[in-house]
Amino acid sequence: MNIVAIDAGHGGEEKGASYCGVDEKNINLCVAGMVSTYLRFRGVKVFETRSTDTTIPLRERIRVINELKPSLLVSIHVDALPNNPEVSGGHLIIAAQRSRITERMSRAVNLTLSRLGRWNVNGMRDVDNKGIVTRTTCPAMIVELGFMTNRGDLRNICNNICTYAQIVGEALQSAGDLGYENYGS
Ligand SMILES: [Zn+2]
Repeated sequence: MNIVAIDAGHGGEEKGASYCGVDEKNINLCVAGMVSTYLRFRGVKVFETRSTDTTIPLRERIRVINELKPSLLVSIHVDALPNNPEVSGGHLIIAAQRSRITERMSRAVNLTLSRLGRWNVNGMRDVDNKGIVTRTTCPAMIVELGFMTNRGDLRNICNNICTYAQIVGEALQSAGDLGYENYGS
């Protein structure tokens, strides 16, 4: 089986969103680490863009991933909408210009992630300008676990972080079952 890249968003000097004394970078790192362990235990080769609290510029992440050519890249984040604290629920972000395998994998991942409950299964967003999904050459997606700006989401994520990691792990495995090895064909 080919390699899966797990990217914990932000890190080091880049805290990401920060609410209620919680920095997004730490949630991302915690979930990414547990997801990596989940997949490794099941025989999947995993590459982590960071496994500590370090600053890695986006262009550097993109360069490393494009060199590595993983079967799938998943970037872990928590969203924030400071002017709209009632908006809640996780969602998936994929590039507007994407391959067929990315399309199939993201559907499988999205469906499994709907088990999180606070998940917008119809909220899958296409983007033209989110660097990591548009500037990497492999199938890529951003998992936004929820909104830091929504009290319910933040409470749920912080209280159930292992459950989040487990379901993300299962979701990536379901994408792998569809055929990591089809990448490039
Ligand atoms: Zn983020």
